[in-house]
Amino acid sequence: MQRPEYAWMRLYPSTVYQSAFMDLKDAFSRWRKGLAEFPKKKTKKKGDSFTVYKTAGIYPSIGESPLPFTNRVVINVGKLIKLPGLKELRLKERIDFICSSQTFSVSRTADKWFVSFMLDAQKIPPIFHRIETIGLDLGVKTLATCSDGTKYDMPITTKKAKIKLGKLQWRNRKKVLGNKKPRIKASNNALKYYTKLARLHAHIANIRLDTTQKMTTDISRKAAVIRIEDLNVSGMIANHKLAQAVSNNCFYEIRRQLTYKQAHYGTKVELIDRWYPSSKMCCKCHHIQPMSLSERIFICSAGCGNIRDRDKNASVNLENAPINKIRLA
Ligand SMILES: [Zn+2]
Repeated sequence: MQRPEYAWMRLYPSTVYQSAFMDLKDAFSRWRKGLAEFPKKKTKKKGDSFTVYKTAGIYPSIGESPLPFTNRVVINVGKLIKLPGLKELRLKERIDFICSSQTFSVSRTADKWFVSFMLDAQKIPPIFHRIETIGLDLGVKTLATCSDGTKYDMPITTKKAKIKLGKLQWRNRKKVLGNKKPRIKASNNALKYYTKLARLHAHIANIRLDTTQKMTTDISRKAAVIRIEDLNVSGMIANHKLAQAVSNNCFYEIRRQLTYKQAHYGTKVELIDRWYPSSKMCCKCHHIQPMSLSERIFICSAGCGNIRDRDKNASVNLENAPINKIRLA
């Protein structure tokens, strides 16, 4: 620490560095267990974030019971928050209750800074589900179709925001955007453009997240057992034609949300084998026929008179999937 090149480290709380090393330790142990790839170096450009935590001021001696809340920061009602080792910060949104937490992570998205911390909360008592089992077909055209007939769409605002994004990129096509290899520096106006671009990207991501969150909560409140297709998402993204649509509709994100909401709402998420012909099978007579992606209506060729929406047919099939095709999420 005495060396002048490390003098800047004194400007920040020590827990910033400590938590970074703890994360590194986690990353290495995950790699050793074969759960993750070898840790990558963090770049300065993308996803700025750091973690600070409160260390207990007085350590209780042996035999003494540890004092509660000595290693916690009390957060008061209002817009001010004091992070350990940092100055008092003003929040955009008001906190409505007194709470306490030990660890705080500060992160940046576009040009906005966020602080996140964990609270202890009481578990929500199990709620009554109106529907026993529901099939959920995640689609390319509609975001999701439920076997009870409800449909969820991506809001039109995403499309509008995307058009705006395209226009912004086109208008700024001649800016000196910078390139590291030939050492061309980005112009000042390009830097402004980068901020605008990041904000718009974040805006689109927020709309998407808001929609999927509302949808998964809605479904988790409604049904006790949720059956979705066990999609090979990375395989679908590799398919160039499907890629845009798939990453657009965030299949993986929906599944993740449904899975972690199990504990909150007392639901059970079941994955249906990816080779189960949910969209090719007639939900009435179980006749299997080829269905191209462009066919939006399922008309049973066995002649049982089943004519219905392609996604609806698939969702009913998922609901009634045989037991040997099901695994828990
Ligand atoms: Zn049929």
